[in-house]
Amino acid sequence: MNMLAHKNFLYLKGNDNADILFHINTSSFYRIYDPVFMRGFRAVFENNVEDENVFKKLEEINNKDFSCLVNCTHCKERIISKANNFTIHKLALVLTSKCNLRCKYCYANYGMYDYDEETDISEDILVDGLNYFMDNFKDIENIQFFGGEPSLCWKQIKRTVEFFKYQIKSGRKKEMPGFGIVTNGVCLNDELIEIMRKYNFQITISLDGPEEINNELRFDVNKKVNIRLFERTIRGSFKVG
Ligand code: SF4
Repeated sequence: MNMLAHKNFLYLKGNDNADILFHINTSSFYRIYDPVFMRGFRAVFENNVEDENVFKKLEEINNKDFSCLVNCTHCKERIISKANNFTIHKLALVLTSKCNLRCKYCYANYGMYDYDEETDISEDILVDGLNYFMDNFKDIENIQFFGGEPSLCWKQIKRTVEFFKYQIKSGRKKEMPGFGIVTNGVCLNDELIEIMRKYNFQITISLDGPEEINNELRFDVNKKVNIRLFERTIRGSFKVG
């Protein structure tokens, strides 16, 4: 599957019935049914063709002029319709662009990727984002904490768990989502470990094999070897599955 990009949109060629358009700014999905539009969209996204009809439609969505009510003309005529009414299998939350390690092979610019600056997500933005997904999608099955090194933002992890506990209590959601974290495992504090245990987190830990190899490759920000810290934190805390 090839994801095609154009300005604030991603486009995925679907089956014979519909293609998928994704508006990045509002995390909204649209299905494109109409064959003429489909050809136009594909031409714009694949070959940078200038198609006024498609540009107009993208502009409408971008400026929120494109209403997608159940009975709107677009849906009735099966041209294009909003398609957020599905369950999100996994919502990945990038909590920070900071990392506490300086691995020699780092592929992620030490958590920065292409971001302009090192930053953590604020609790307000996190809650706004979670509310957005609760409001606009059917359900969320799993949450994955990602970064940078997400355990540096353990308070935001705690806030996320509390957010979902409240959703259950208030009847807005039926079940707690599954939680997962991708971590280097060297800065997990006791409170975070307790949360991870209590909510049965799926933990993906990066470790570079035997101690001598790991120590050649992985250092903390002060260029110190960190394997002992890793061992102290992890050993005895979790079942390895
Ligand atoms: S743990 Fe290592 S590889 Fe992962 S983001 Fe940090 S420095 Fe890069």
